[in-house]
Amino acid sequence: MARDTLHGLRPAPRRLKAPATTSPPGAAERVGAVMARLAEADPDPKAGFDDTDPFRLLVTVLLSAQSTGPTVARIAEALFARVKDPAGMLDLGEAEITAIVRPVGLGPSKARNIVKLSAALIETFGGAVPRSSVEMRRLPGIGRKSAEVTANFAFHEPVIAVDTHVFRVSNRIPLASGATVDAVADGLALAVPERFKDGAHIWLFRHGRDTCTARKPACTCCPVSDLCTWPGQAT
Ligand code: SF4
Repeated sequence: MARDTLHGLRPAPRRLKAPATTSPPGAAERVGAVMARLAEADPDPKAGFDDTDPFRLLVTVLLSAQSTGPTVARIAEALFARVKDPAGMLDLGEAEITAIVRPVGLGPSKARNIVKLSAALIETFGGAVPRSSVEMRRLPGIGRKSAEVTANFAFHEPVIAVDTHVFRVSNRIPLASGATVDAVADGLALAVPERFKDGAHIWLFRHGRDTCTARKPACTCCPVSDLCTWPGQAT
């Protein structure tokens, strides 16, 4: 069974040079058609975990770096049984947080970032998580992907977070080609029609996790095989 993370929050491969995103002929039509197919198959995409508390979601996303989904969910449950908001997190303190989150890996640095994040939320945003992914990216320990996942799931901001699955699928079909996460994210932001952006991360993540897998893509039962131009497509 494929190793999973919280909605594919494992980092996609990064390279030093970032060539410009390319747009092959007919790309706009293909992107729209692919998204329509994936949307039709899963018309009400749900994150699969509690996305009603933005602070809890943001901390959960932070915890998920290089860790598996079930462990992250269990540890988030344990942490938020003790804490409800950023002020409570500061009261709990870094040492206690470290002890709770240690099983997810990188416990000390994640605990340190949770404390810094909580302090920044209180100082800058009155204790609330900002609704914009751009503002979230100013918070300690929160990169583009974490900010976009949180803003998309918690506030339905129309941004498409790029994880390893989204990165692979986007390059293969292609929807947005690029050698870096940022190039693909920028390409998707331009290429995906607005009406699909809210659900796009989940649709592409699930397609990459379940069908267009890294080693053995199930091309013969892929719902978008006729729209895919990947030369490595299995027949
Ligand atoms: S046809 Fe194969 S390579 Fe193309 S999107 Fe489908 S599973 Fe992926």
